[in-house]
Amino acid sequence: IDATTVPTIRRLDEAVVNRIAAGEIIHRPANALKELIENSLDAKSTNIQVSVKEGGLKLLQIQDNGHGIKLGDMAIVCERFTTSKLRSFDDLSSMSTYGFRGEALASISHVAHVTITTKTKDSNCAYKASYSDGVIIPAKPGAAAEPKPCAGNNGTQISAEDLFYNVPTRRKALKNATEEYNRILDIVNRYAIHNEGVSFTCRKIGSNTPEVHTTTTATVLDNIRQIYGSSVANELLSLEKSYPVYQLKIKGWISNANYNVKKFAFLLFINHRSVDSPAIRKAIEAVHFINEEEIIATICDAIQDRLGNANVSRNFLTQT
Ligand code: ADP
Ligand code: MG
Repeated sequence: IDATTVPTIRRLDEAVVNRIAAGEIIHRPANALKELIENSLDAKSTNIQVSVKEGGLKLLQIQDNGHGIKLGDMAIVCERFTTSKLRSFDDLSSMSTYGFRGEALASISHVAHVTITTKTKDSNCAYKASYSDGVIIPAKPGAAAEPKPCAGNNGTQISAEDLFYNVPTRRKALKNATEEYNRILDIVNRYAIHNEGVSFTCRKIGSNTPEVHTTTTATVLDNIRQIYGSSVANELLSLEKSYPVYQLKIKGWISNANYNVKKFAFLLFINHRSVDSPAIRKAIEAVHFINEEEIIATICDAIQDRLGNANVSRNFLTQT
């Protein structure tokens, strides 16, 4: 195009728009898994099982025992902006679920082959449907695009296969299945530790022993022991403080000053959402080796300051 030609503006194809929008939300298998785990938790599941093939690029599957999805909702569940959580704009200020804007399943269905099998406790069988670009696809060419009755337990199983099969640039950027699997494990570990009363497992398909396995009766400390080992869990101090001025409560575990860390791990949850905060992480990492009780108090203050600021932008914290 030279300076004398004026380009014409055209409306993008809806499928292209949706695929681009999906890419903004789902960058890699671990993002998709985080959304799926949060949906299972929102559905009040107490058992969440993750199965993975090739770092989640070939297959990412999650099975839960939550409330399931009504047969009548299955046709629209993967459409954009369909949700059972948010009803009105005013609800936004009081949401207690992770999700609310109905974009996750839609996004995943635009960049992967999605299959949902679900059973509510009132239904006498499960229903299964496969989705592409937000809508149910017929099981066979020419068949009706509707859920098929099948056997299944109460709860929901969602599989995402061949992630980014239709976004070659993204697919090429993710060639290391081991790295993607490690990111998946990191997500499962975080949610497994934080969610007392919920049992999590994560396994590679074909392997008998899961890499992560926590139980419904375990406490947060038990979960840390299970995932990081006794040598870490035995050296933890509990941390509990509240700052009414900021409407803030901090609760957690921190390794005592004598514990010699080879590998620093920092898991942060704000309003039960796993959050990455390089600022807090750096503050903690920097002081961790000095053997003084006062330092721990300082850490608390640093956390307080940081969270105090973060609390100002609460609306931001409630996004999926
Ligand atoms: P959101 O979580 O923002 O509502 P999603 O796209 O993640 O949007 O999910 C859309 C809807 O699908 C949810 O509102 C919920 O009703 C249903 N859903 C998704 N996953 C599950 C699940 N594991 N169990 C029960 N219902 C689910
Ligand atoms: Mg969701």
